[in-house]
Amino acid sequence: MSRYWSAVVHGLTPYVPGEQPKLPNLVKLNTNENPYGPSPKALAAIEAERNDALRLYPDPNSDRLKSAIAEYHGLATSQVFVGNGSDEVLAHVFLALLRHEAPLLFPDITYSFYPVYCGLYGVTPEIVPLTESFEIRVEDYFRPNGGIIFANPNAPTGRPLALAEIERLLQRSTETVVVVDEAYIDFGGETAIGLIAKYPNLLVVQTLSKSRSLAGLRVGFAVGHPELIEGLERVKNSFNSYPLDRMAIAGAVAAYEDRAYFDETCAKVIASRERLNEELEKLGFDVLPSAANFVFARHPQRDGGELARALRERSIIVRHFKSPRIDQFLRITIGTDAQCDALVAALTEILA
Ligand SMILES: *Cc1c(COP(=O)(O)O)cnc(C)c1O
Repeated sequence: MSRYWSAVVHGLTPYVPGEQPKLPNLVKLNTNENPYGPSPKALAAIEAERNDALRLYPDPNSDRLKSAIAEYHGLATSQVFVGNGSDEVLAHVFLALLRHEAPLLFPDITYSFYPVYCGLYGVTPEIVPLTESFEIRVEDYFRPNGGIIFANPNAPTGRPLALAEIERLLQRSTETVVVVDEAYIDFGGETAIGLIAKYPNLLVVQTLSKSRSLAGLRVGFAVGHPELIEGLERVKNSFNSYPLDRMAIAGAVAAYEDRAYFDETCAKVIASRERLNEELEKLGFDVLPSAANFVFARHPQRDGGELARALRERSIIVRHFKSPRIDQFLRITIGTDAQCDALVAALTEILA
């Protein structure tokens, strides 16, 4: 608290990211980072930018990156917006497209940055509970709103929503923007990008942090109708002309060009997820069906918080949320098979 703070700062409830402890030999399964490194081609492209040109500002429009993303998804560059991580993209989305009189609808259990941005930008949230089995029921969103946002696959549940359901929502909800946050889409969900040509109020947000293993580089993007993109550009150009630095632009472009590495590492994560799923079920866990690079699981006999603490004593960290409905669950990032094995061995010991 400080008397120098502006009034808005007193009222903020900031987002709390998963911790990044600097301990050696830690099995870090708490923030959904990719266990495999970035594409070697992305690393080489970043290295190549380490030169005298760093004295110059980067391209304020990140045109090379917009072209790479547009080409990859079969879009025009006017349909692409890029930012410093998808969190920044989402922030601009809240201010540019979701701040209206009517409330913004999102699930009770979802990415916890959405309520934080509501607080920052003065957007009224209207919370729509997931079903008993933690699914989004699109009928629940057929009500007056100033916008709709959800993650697909959802976080921290991992549950995917079928593309046909998203289209059913878009057929009904034509007056406000529908934002689909696809941070985890490459691990098994169906992207809604194919629907943007048909629905001018659909905005799809993705990140290079998870499936392209570049959380440290900070690159995210949104795709949608050029009018939505123009709204985002207006906010971006009123905030920071250069959200992406030279290394970020070069590394992100190269990551998109290395399709083979991307396909291979995503397939490895998906295979490990299915294996871990089976192992956890053998240990008696209830595991929600996941299309993400994490699983959400609870043990019917053991407290979630206690399990997280016992794992931590064994140098394994997972995410535990002390929130209603989900305080018995652990969100476990898919690591390498060796890390998954270490987790299963520790849980076997803890449950014995
Ligand atoms: C990780 C995550 C993001 C943020 O990703 P960055 O691009 O690293 O900012 C956005 N939405 C969801 C649902 C996420 O899990």
